[in-house]
Amino acid sequence: MNVCKFGGSSLADAAQVQKVCRIVAADAQRRLVVVSAPGKRSDDDIKVTDRLIACGEMVLRGENASDAMAVVVERFASIHRELSLPQSVMDEIRADLVGRLDADATHDLRFMDLMKAAGEDNAARLVAAALTESGVPAMYVNPRDAGMVVTSEYGEARLLDSAYTKLASLKDLDCVGVFPGFFGYDVDGHVATFSRGGSDITGSILAAAVGADMYENFTDVDSVKVADPRIVDNPVAITELTPREMRELSYAGFSVLHDEAIAPAVKAGVPICVKNTNRPERPGTRIVSSHEKTSARVVGIASAGGFCSIYVRKYLMNREVGFGRRLLQILEDEGLSYEHTPSGIDDMSVVLAEAQLDSTRESRVIKRIMDELGADDVGVEHDLALIMVVGEGMRFGVGLAATATAALSEAGVNIEMMNQGSSEISMMFGVKGADRAKAVQSIYSAYYENGTASTATP
Ligand code: ASP
Repeated sequence: MNVCKFGGSSLADAAQVQKVCRIVAADAQRRLVVVSAPGKRSDDDIKVTDRLIACGEMVLRGENASDAMAVVVERFASIHRELSLPQSVMDEIRADLVGRLDADATHDLRFMDLMKAAGEDNAARLVAAALTESGVPAMYVNPRDAGMVVTSEYGEARLLDSAYTKLASLKDLDCVGVFPGFFGYDVDGHVATFSRGGSDITGSILAAAVGADMYENFTDVDSVKVADPRIVDNPVAITELTPREMRELSYAGFSVLHDEAIAPAVKAGVPICVKNTNRPERPGTRIVSSHEKTSARVVGIASAGGFCSIYVRKYLMNREVGFGRRLLQILEDEGLSYEHTPSGIDDMSVVLAEAQLDSTRESRVIKRIMDELGADDVGVEHDLALIMVVGEGMRFGVGLAATATAALSEAGVNIEMMNQGSSEISMMFGVKGADRAKAVQSIYSAYYENGTASTATP
């Protein structure tokens, strides 16, 4: 059996819900469906989850949220109307949504989770009815009955490992099960949500629990692209990606699936496929544990801005035992998390997300490094972008780094630093923020337009 997860854009209106029904009907393997809350219908629309958050905040401020909730009810009602579903379904959805406003709000986070989860919970009721109406018998599955038991970390709950045993029996449902994504129940029976975008996590957990043949994640893109389409014109598609490659890419801004979200399915060996609800016939991007053919290639080029680098120089640093540890200790004391630490004989840089470092903290860190480590020079370089060139097969290739550096130099981009991950699955180039797009474009065209290093297909 397959577990299919549909994101918010796939459920935004009645036409989208009909596409979901057709997709599920097209393959009898699709027996467990996980849904997000209805998303945006257009760029200036508001996601149901965001509206629910606004309602919850109003209640917590002591304001009347009835009108705001009526807008949410209407989002569901319009889909319900267009699909001509039984009245009882809408009555249940309305009662559930409106009823949540009166729930116990003494615990802020817990109350907010109850509100946030309402989008998914009612989308599942609606989709189960829509499937049944379209000729595919389906039922809404209540996460509490199914055993989705999570920690009480409201807003960032995690599944209890012991939950898998009961969840496994979802494979024995005698019709299609429609499961709301994004939340579970803690041991005291309170709703607790995963982090935002958490329906992906639900899908992945269920795929692992039932030992699915495939976890299909339906979204609104045909496939993951080799580079960000906002930076590179019409980039080629990635047909196959390993979880490690995906992690490296999503770290630097690839946002299709969050690596933590797919972890349960990956661990259970369930292949994942990212597909487009609007064009389900397209092959999509598969996430597989390893590439069948190992060849020297780059699978993706990602980039992220907003980094800075603390540069530290001290003569004879290489002979000083514990220098690196003491430097990192200062950062740890200041609660700063770092990303990379390129180093030389007498110098070391620490790359970190710039948002963590306000000017007071920055001066304090610089002073501490000077005083406590006796550094000769300390400086902070702001506004850096990191370019990640990723591919498991890269370690088998000769000249892949040369291709990237030559491309950067030809484009007139100065490389501020470079780092090859010890696993040789990625190369990182630090460039000035203003050079980010130029850097990605030049590396992309060197690898893909000149045909050097890819098995990806357009
Ligand atoms: N609806 C939730 C959110 O907006 C969860 C999800 O869509 O996966 O974060």
